[in-house]
Amino acid sequence: MSEPQGATESAEHAAYRESARSWLAENAELKTGVDDWSTQKTHVDPDALVAYFERCKAWQRTTFEGGYAGITWEKAYGGQGGESWQTRIFREEQAKFDVTNGFLAATTAMLGTALRFHGTEQQKTTYLPPMLSADQTWCQLFSEPNAGSDLAGLACRAERDGDVFRVNGQKVWNSMAQAADWGFLLVRSNPDAPKHKGITFILVDMSSPGIEVRPLVQPNGQSHFNEVFFNGVDIPVANVVGEIDAGWTVAKTVLMAESQFIGGAGGADTSTVLIDLARKQGLADDPVVRQELATAYINETILKLLSQVMNDAIRSGKPPPIDGALLKLKLAYNRVQFGNLAMLLLGPASLVEIGPDSTRAMEELIGRFSVSIGGGTNEVGKNNIGHRMGLPREPGTPIDMPWKDIPR
Ligand SMILES: Cc1cc2nc3c(=O)[nH]c(=O)nc-3n(C[C@H](O)[C@H](O)[C@H](O)COP(=O)(O)OP(=O)(O)OC[C@H]3O[C@@H](n4cnc5c(N)ncnc54)[C@H](O)[C@@H]3O)c2cc1C
Repeated sequence: MSEPQGATESAEHAAYRESARSWLAENAELKTGVDDWSTQKTHVDPDALVAYFERCKAWQRTTFEGGYAGITWEKAYGGQGGESWQTRIFREEQAKFDVTNGFLAATTAMLGTALRFHGTEQQKTTYLPPMLSADQTWCQLFSEPNAGSDLAGLACRAERDGDVFRVNGQKVWNSMAQAADWGFLLVRSNPDAPKHKGITFILVDMSSPGIEVRPLVQPNGQSHFNEVFFNGVDIPVANVVGEIDAGWTVAKTVLMAESQFIGGAGGADTSTVLIDLARKQGLADDPVVRQELATAYINETILKLLSQVMNDAIRSGKPPPIDGALLKLKLAYNRVQFGNLAMLLLGPASLVEIGPDSTRAMEELIGRFSVSIGGGTNEVGKNNIGHRMGLPREPGTPIDMPWKDIPR
């Protein structure tokens, strides 16, 4: 189920939809069910995970060559110089086909936005085109064992030695770091400064000597996340994005883009998947199920519209009309409703993997936690919104206390 189209769509939008649809028909297969590879996120076998990543790269490359990657990005950096409604329409049409660029979409949204805002011209021309063509893939190296919600407290140390920063420390929960070519990394470059003011944002080649990536095994058997250890890794100072010690500004752009991406990724409609499951279970005419399916559709539609309002403002250089954290929180709440509904539909089969439908239901039921934690937890999102609403800051150490003096 997608947004109303046709009568409510302008001729320009309808023409774009038609050209996207015919390009997709030439380059991809239509989905045949909700269990196509594009919707499956469960990859217990590490080889299957890597194979999935390779297929995501291949599809990203195809969209790049076809003129559908970086639709709103500047042409000089490999983009199309288009409008955000084009991205929305392309995603809606793409969701009907058995393709995805998977996690690449997240890192492209995060780092692409940060580089376009804060990168030098040389960094933009060096890194943005291969990001869009998937010739270079990226992972986010932010969280640490003692710095998740309190990200600005991070301890991974970078010491300047001539033209390089020598990095020692550990990161954790780094999605797909086992497969990525490059990472965008936050390091503590000045321990004497207050915690937000001694952080540097730097790009690191994941094949650099001294980097060790250890996949973490999740309770469901997947290894989406990794621990990444830095043992005396030399990174050129030229790889710093923004100013040395002022990486928090760049990190905030990444976090904003991440929230917005997670909240507004759109494309595949979960309500469609749930309706499909309801039909298969013979429950589509159940009065309670119908109410819940309508609620799922309403929730999804509200999120899509909020996301479009946000994208339109950003594209036209206006300040975001709504707080970016709101989109991600809305998605997190939606996922709770979707997960509960999946359990209502599949019953105990949503707790064990006995076939594609139970895998999909499990994804909704258990996978919902990833949205309430990844990219900042719901609680932290609400704290931030509260602060921006003018509520007092949370109690804590004084904001100007040097990082090295903060009790740990
Ligand atoms: C799917 C997913 C993908 C991820 N990918 C990456 C990645 O690629 N790269 C990366 O660097 N990180 C990644 N992360 C890590 C993620 O950013 C952190 O898990 C998140 O910021 C929370 O940090 P934490 O796990 O250390 O939890 P903690 O900060 O230890 O929080 C534990 C609990 O305490 C609560 N809490 C903490 N502080 C407060 C407070 N001030 N007020 C109220 N409640 C509070 C939290 O809400 C949470 O419930 C990913 C996480 C997930 C789930």
